[in-house]
Amino acid sequence: METSNKLISVQHLVKEYNHGTVKALNDCSIDIARGEVVAIIGPSGSGKSTLLRSLNLLEQPTSGEILFDGVNLADKSVDINLHRQKMGMVFQHFNLFPHKTVLQNITMAPVTLKKKTPEQAQQQAEELLERIGLADKANEYPNMLSGGQKQRIAIAGVLAMRPQCIVLDEATAMLDPIGRREVLAAVEKLNREQGITVVLI
Ligand code: ADP
Repeated sequence: METSNKLISVQHLVKEYNHGTVKALNDCSIDIARGEVVAIIGPSGSGKSTLLRSLNLLEQPTSGEILFDGVNLADKSVDINLHRQKMGMVFQHFNLFPHKTVLQNITMAPVTLKKKTPEQAQQQAEELLERIGLADKANEYPNMLSGGQKQRIAIAGVLAMRPQCIVLDEATAMLDPIGRREVLAAVEKLNREQGITVVLI
């Protein structure tokens, strides 16, 4: 068994849309180590989102390979849902259920998908809320929170699934400067304290 520090390895990835008329990614290669924070920078339309969506199997590569933890994502044996649990994705829009409290939003997936008991899930959610500085919001509803707070709750929801990596697709684009700072500080803290790998646009 290879004990590599490499978590993600993208090799010669090509992604074409519209029968090859749009080449969103052209021979893209990148290695991302465990615990690393990687920012992908580039003008609009340069393929940043396509790369992140490919990592999470939301897009099928035209050619090239993506290895996650040494496993080729194109292998038939890869369980897509399990892979997505290992690689949590945070989008621009806050993926929260408006009719559930903050705590319920965070505990739902671990209870239904990870078979945690409600008590275990709640304890974990409380720890995560503490970490992101929102312990006092546990019983509030999303519409009572600021954009930066909502996005941090969405991140806590992703982290509740214990991913090895989180991927943020312009997750701060909708936020004002204060919200942006709050979210990036929370992500940086999670990386520093828990060694979680972060890939962000
Ligand atoms: P970025 O995130 O850097 O703005 P994208 O990855 O969204 O770039 O897009 C890269 C290119 O691929 C653009 O030219 C875009 O128009 C095109 N593209 C993205 N998604 C699709 C799609 N589903 N169908 C067709 N073309 C697409």
